[in-house]
Formats: sequence, C-alpha cells, structure tokens
Amino acid sequence: MRSDTRWYFDHNATTPIAPVTREAVSLAMEDAWANPSSLHQDGQRARRCFEEARAQVARFLGCSPKEIVFTSGGTEAANLAVLGGVRASTRRDRHVLTTAIEHPAVLEACAQLEREGVAVTYLQPSRQGVIGPEQFRRHLTKDTVLASVMHANNETGAVQEIAAMAAMAREAGVLFHSDGVQAAGKLAFSPVSAGVDFYSVSAHKLNAPKGCGALYARTGTVLAPLLHGGRQERGRRAGTESVTLAAALGAAVAMERPDVTPLRDRLEQGLLARIPGAHVNAGQAARLPNTTNVAFDGIAAESLVIALDLRGFSVSTGAACSSGSTEPSHVLLAMGLSPEQARSSVRFSLGLGNTAEQVDLLLEAAAEAVARLRALSPAHSEVVR
Ligand code: PLP
Repeated sequence: MRSDTRWYFDHNATTPIAPVTREAVSLAMEDAWANPSSLHQDGQRARRCFEEARAQVARFLGCSPKEIVFTSGGTEAANLAVLGGVRASTRRDRHVLTTAIEHPAVLEACAQLEREGVAVTYLQPSRQGVIGPEQFRRHLTKDTVLASVMHANNETGAVQEIAAMAAMAREAGVLFHSDGVQAAGKLAFSPVSAGVDFYSVSAHKLNAPKGCGALYARTGTVLAPLLHGGRQERGRRAGTESVTLAAALGAAVAMERPDVTPLRDRLEQGLLARIPGAHVNAGQAARLPNTTNVAFDGIAAESLVIALDLRGFSVSTGAACSSGSTEPSHVLLAMGLSPEQARSSVRFSLGLGNTAEQVDLLLEAAAEAVARLRALSPAHSEVVR
C-alpha cells in the first residue's frame, strides 16, 4: 500500500526549496563566501550580497533596511523581540501581555521571563481561535512593557487583528511584537503601516532553507541582545553573518506566490462533503489562505496522519514543531475543544507545488482512510464524541 509518489500538504511545518532560493544560495556560496566584515574586496562582495538581501526583506516588509535584524530563524527572532525588548527595560515592575495560542518560540520566552520575575498574562482565545482587541486592551496594565500577539496561528491559520492591538499598545506606551512566521508571504501586510514595533519572520516557511529568519525592529526601539561577541547587526545580534542564508531569504521574499485559497477551499469543502463527522476548527475566523484544521470524530489524528503518509500524503497533527508528541494541541485546548476533539484534529497546509489534481487525490485517500480507521479498532471508537 506504501506510495512512492509524494504529495506535500504540510507547508506550515516547512516548505520545499524553491528554484530561485536554491540559485541564490549557490550564487552566494560561489561569490559571497567571504566575511562581510572584512575590509578587502572579497569581504566587500559578501557585504554587498548581504545588504542586497537585507534590502529585499525590507522592501517585502515595507520598512527601512536598518530595521531588519537577520537571525537564525523564527524562534530566535521572536526570542530577541520578547526577551530583548523586555530585558532592555529598566523598570522595576514589568508585565508582558501575550496569548495562550502562541507558538512555543513566544510561550517559552515568556516562561523564561517569568523565571526572571516578570509577570505574564496569557489571553484566552474565543472558540474560533481569535483574541478580541477589546479583551487585549482590558489586560494592558500600568506595568506592561511588551505585548506579543501572533499574526496568524500555525495550527488553525486564524488571523488576529494585529493593527488594532498595536494601536492600543502604542497608546499605552507598550512595545508590540507580532510573530509573523506563518503570515509572512501569505497575507499582504506591512508591520510599518500596522504600527507594530517588532515582527518575526522565518525563511524556511517561505521556500528557503532552515537556519535563517529576520526581525523587523522599528527605528527607536532598543533590544538587549541574546548573543554576545561582536557588533554585527548594529549590536543587536553578534556572530559572523550567514550571507548565504540571508541571500536565500531575500530571494524567497521577492518571489511571486500563487494564491492557494481556491485549493484550500476545494479541500475543505470536499472533506466536509465526503466525510461525516468532520468539523473545521476556527472555520468562522479570518484565516490564512492555505490552512485548514479539521477534527474527524472518532479518529486518532496520528493514525490518520500515518494512514495518509502510507498513501503518499504529508499532513500533520497541528503543532508540527512538537510532532512526535502525543499531547493534545495547546491551541485547540485553549479554544475550548475537549482533549478528544483536539486529538482528532489534522492540519492540512498548502503551498507552492500543490494542484487541484493533488487535492482530489487527497480527498479520495482521506475519505477512504477515515472510513477504514473508523471501521477498525475499538481504540478508535473510544474517541467518538
Ligand atoms: N512561530 C510560528 C508561528 C511558527 O509556526 C514557527 C515554526 O513552526 C516558529 C515561530 C519558529 O520558527 P523557526 O522554525 O524558524 O525557528
């Protein structure tokens, strides 16, 4: 039954390398391998390549190149904003406002701040996975130094009203970070027009290699660096820069991307039509155009992921970054789903390379796999709602 052909529907976990980013990597390796801090011509060539990549990322985000800090990925970008933004504050009582549905890149940074004596509030989402701006405003306190609300959720695709919350934060003199790792490249957005202070992006969600990301840090903001050892990135990130990976990110953000909304809708509607007891999580929320998260009554999501894998399809049980764990998703639990409902939820995320034909094949395979799993063992019927 194992299929040799593969169809990839897990773009929120990571994305395949696009030809333009592969080419950018190869060019940078050949031509810009030197240390961009070196004074000689080899170093200057690397510097030019690196600064061109910075300019591409800045154009993509609608900001000034000086406002871009290259990092090792989305996790480091979010850590730099949250830890660096709060640690730069000299206030005695410090409070951070965030949400219960953040990626661990933000949640774990907040947990670290709590160990350092910072108070943290975790806002609970609605059943649709949405944080209300008024709810956000109510939890700002006189001690709030920084707020961090993700732009779009990696599991459900639910999009938050970032601009409204950023405006409230600014009015209250509070720094505002948004984890844009999943939204970047999928939504037309500029952190500058939205009034955000910090915005994180990651290369490997954009058809570029892993190991690179960027933080938009608005001019005038101060960040305590996470790494010490050099004055690179205007003192915000020490260490010899990866020109190669930055070049890949630059090429990735400059790339045209197809709108996969029709494919996602075809998949979602097809699943609902063919499979009884299928429910879209956060289906009423404004969502990323490429994501659908579906609960299948009576199914252990991991069994379905494996069954689809054997049929050639890569999908995931929500939080890809913690895949391998059988814990129910903290995002779905925070939305009010029961542990059983959360454990029966599968995420399908589309991107470059997906076609309507692939969607139709997936629909057929999913309907067949769900029917087979339901017919199978009592273990599966135990999780029926
Ligand atoms: N934030 C979100 C919303 C994510 O989905 C991810 C990765 O899955 C990250 C942050 C972490 O990014 P990276 O893998 O580049 O460290």
